[in-house]
Amino acid sequence: MIRVEKLSKVFGNVTVLKEINVEIHKGEIISIIGPSGTGKSTFLRCLNLLEQPTSGKIFIDEIDILDKNTNVPKLRQKMGMVFQSFNLFNHLTVLENLTIGQTKLLKRAKAEAESRGHELLKLVGLSEKAENYADELSGGQKQRVAIARCLSMDPEIILFDEPTSALDPTMVSEVLAVIRRLAKEGMTMAIVTHEMDFARDVSNRVFYMDEGIIYEDGSPQQIFHSPQKEKTRAFINRIRSLNYSIRNTNFDFYAMNGEIEHFCEKHVLPKKVVNNIKLIFEELIIIHNAVYNEVSIDVTVSYSEKNEAVELLFTYKGKNLNLLELKMDDDIGQNIIKNLCQSITYSFDAESNKLFITLK
Ligand code: ADP
Ligand code: MG
Repeated sequence: MIRVEKLSKVFGNVTVLKEINVEIHKGEIISIIGPSGTGKSTFLRCLNLLEQPTSGKIFIDEIDILDKNTNVPKLRQKMGMVFQSFNLFNHLTVLENLTIGQTKLLKRAKAEAESRGHELLKLVGLSEKAENYADELSGGQKQRVAIARCLSMDPEIILFDEPTSALDPTMVSEVLAVIRRLAKEGMTMAIVTHEMDFARDVSNRVFYMDEGIIYEDGSPQQIFHSPQKEKTRAFINRIRSLNYSIRNTNFDFYAMNGEIEHFCEKHVLPKKVVNNIKLIFEELIIIHNAVYNEVSIDVTVSYSEKNEAVELLFTYKGKNLNLLELKMDDDIGQNIIKNLCQSITYSFDAESNKLFITLK
């Protein structure tokens, strides 16, 4: 369906895409993952010519889209795009957002466009919002309308650029559910996403982008469980766990919590879990600093996809002491932690104290 040959994109003196070669077939659901700044958005934007490639060729159904005779608006209809920010018309109703493209670009009659609009609202679960203005909707609802609007143009492929990144974590799943449904119905899609569980479940092919190329292209099984190349492996391992080092009492507490929140969002962990992790570390750090003068703490949060469990590791250097079994005048902190944990294992080795914790 899409064939890309030696696609390059240069901004000023920065080469963002370096001679990418790839084919996308009808019915494929491709997740595109990778560190930020590696050209994932640029790649999608080049595919539908929102960005003019510097060199290379792109064929869609064997038509060379960079040929100057190609009808670009027509091409864009074949390729819907859903952005992080929904780009709805806020002064129009939800239904009008879905009919405007159909009547203006596809020249459909109003009644036909409205009937299709209602069908699509049903598909994304928003029938009752047809007459609401777009700005009356929540972020998750707006994004579902944006997907319906994209579908209203009868695209052959949909390109999603981080469709859930701008959403409150509570709204991520409703949008992913709609994308899953499209996947079931056989829609061809390329999805840039940080939602790794989703990428693994929904797609049948994963691109890991790095160094300006599709650095590794494989099945979800390969990319997530046995990546062949070094950078893919490093990336996949990094997203499975978060490490944070604390070396003095004035460390940036907010930065650590921010990283924990971001990590938990990526794994779609409930808010309560996020709060419990932050609370456990906060209490442990308070107890630690009451006992030790030197601060050398490393915290790790891991999410075991297999057990669907969060595991915490709290490592601190110094004399052999289990912070949770210490006799203290005020044992509230210790009790708070014990109440939130499923299991706590303490070990000491080579000046390192380790508390391995699984959450309830
Ligand atoms: P990703 O989506 O993987 O985070 P992007 O495709 O957005 O990455 O960006 C890749 C690189 O290209 C970044 O270094 C970014 O700063 C640069 N870039 C993207 N768009 C432009 C632009 N319009 N002008 C200049 N540089 C850009
Ligand atoms: Mg991007």
